[in-house]
Amino acid sequence: MAEYDVDLFVIGGGSGGVRAARIAAGYGAKVVVAEEYRMGGTCVIRGCVPKKLFVIGSHVHQEIEDAAGFGWSIGDVSFDWATLVANKDKEIARLEGAYTTNVEKSGARIVKTRAVLEDAHTIRLGTGETVTAKYILIATGGAPNHGPAIPGIEHVISSNEAFHLKELPKRIVIQGGGYIALEFAGIFAGYGSDVTVVYRGENILRGFDEDVRKHVRAEMEKRGITIITGCTVTKVDKHGRDFTSHLSGGSSIASDQVMFAIGRHPNVANLGLETAGVAINPANGGIQVDGWSKTSADNIYAIGDVTHRTNLTPVAIREGHAFADTVFGKRPVQVDHATIPTAVFSQPEVGTVGMTEQEARAQFSHVDIYKADFRPIKATMSGRDTRVLMKLVVDGLSDRVLGCHIVGDCAAEITQAVAIAVKMKATKADFDATVALHPTASEELVTMRTPTARHVRQAAE
Ligand code: FAD
Ligand code: NDP
Repeated sequence: MAEYDVDLFVIGGGSGGVRAARIAAGYGAKVVVAEEYRMGGTCVIRGCVPKKLFVIGSHVHQEIEDAAGFGWSIGDVSFDWATLVANKDKEIARLEGAYTTNVEKSGARIVKTRAVLEDAHTIRLGTGETVTAKYILIATGGAPNHGPAIPGIEHVISSNEAFHLKELPKRIVIQGGGYIALEFAGIFAGYGSDVTVVYRGENILRGFDEDVRKHVRAEMEKRGITIITGCTVTKVDKHGRDFTSHLSGGSSIASDQVMFAIGRHPNVANLGLETAGVAINPANGGIQVDGWSKTSADNIYAIGDVTHRTNLTPVAIREGHAFADTVFGKRPVQVDHATIPTAVFSQPEVGTVGMTEQEARAQFSHVDIYKADFRPIKATMSGRDTRVLMKLVVDGLSDRVLGCHIVGDCAAEITQAVAIAVKMKATKADFDATVALHPTASEELVTMRTPTARHVRQAAE
């Protein structure tokens, strides 16, 4: 008789858990996946995918406005939020079905219930049943931070609820200056809401290149989004269907919705981690793992957002795949977390890979900056007041391109391709040797010949 019921028990049917389960099953392992909500996890159900669908739809208004300069005369247009939400829900349900089918086709079994650890080899299901496993993979993801316990916090929604609002808010206050706050600011503004972003720091997108931060803010403000920095929401009052957000500076804003997008925390609570000997990383509150995604318990691994390393879908997927290759495929693989491209689907979009100018100047003695800030060709006819930013950060000694930062249409798509070159350690000379593709915005990346700034750190005396 087998020592354990299964070879692998995966807790969480999201991006990382699903990939790990499918690959491990493909290697012949007996696999069970537990999912307490919906197969597909955050990315598919209430993250990347529905967000991108909302973003795509919200661009239409601007397209219609821009069309006039190209001769189009478009009569009255109207938008129906309920149709958008219903069609989005239909697509998400289809994807959830596809995720379920693909896992089952791989030979893994799905149990639709919460699962917690009872000891290092035993999992207790919501049904009360227990399952023993040789290996356990924790892929429970994360959840929105609800925020500080300010008066009226119960009136505040997170991104989870934003996907299911009954009506488009005419006015919305969004607290936060990161990915989700800016993406939803663009979404709501695109559909016609009056949007105010409240951010506690000096400028939005902390951690991104300084030029990107300034450019995005200016462009969002040109599109009518109000950005208030240097303060927080201290209280939310509800009067009938209206809300008043009180700010730390003393002012207040009236709106129909208040949303906080102030970070996410790893789903580690009440999982039985202590009983199984799984330690938490004190630095970030996620599950502590080594380079193989192995936790402090020898047979238990953790991947994706629950480890709070780089909280992005492709990273969770890679970590899940690497775990399955290593443990079940006899092909040890560690995920390289360096130079991961990322995009903020704000409007305009941000695409970035590699080092910011500030990071490069802290690490390299000679840093060359190549920057282009220009009016895109479409704006010449649409008349829209908008500019694109393209920036390369280059090691002045080795000529290696250390970072690429783009703000403008298709920034994410361009960055995915540029990321290959940056990951391959391409030099500025390699970029220059590449013939431009004309007329595009991204041809700037291979035609910027003269540095706009050159930073040389003097040797310490
Ligand atoms: P998840 O996908 O969160 O999956 C975890 C699963 O575990 C969930 O389904 C949960 O229900 C289940 N679960 C939890 N506890 C238990 C338990 N005890 N028992 C059973 N099941 C359990 N990333 C990008 O790369 N690009 C984007 O554009 C992007 N947009 C985003 C937009 C939003 C609004 C949000 C919130 C996130 C976005 N992300 C994006 C981040 C991305 O969604 C996550 O990084 C990714 O989903 C992490 O995958 P995961 O497998 O670690 O966890
Ligand atoms: P982010 O970390 O991107 O941003 C959080 C924002 O909230 C920051 O501006 C932060 O300020 C602010 N904040 C944090 N705590 C407080 C507080 N107590 N009061 C007021 N403001 C506060 O988190 P998000 O929630 O936007 O997104 C979570 C993660 O999900 C992202 O980091 C990313 O990994 C992933 N994601 C990826 C997307 C993509 O790839 N396009 C899209 C959406 C999410 P400060 O900067 O000062 O700390």
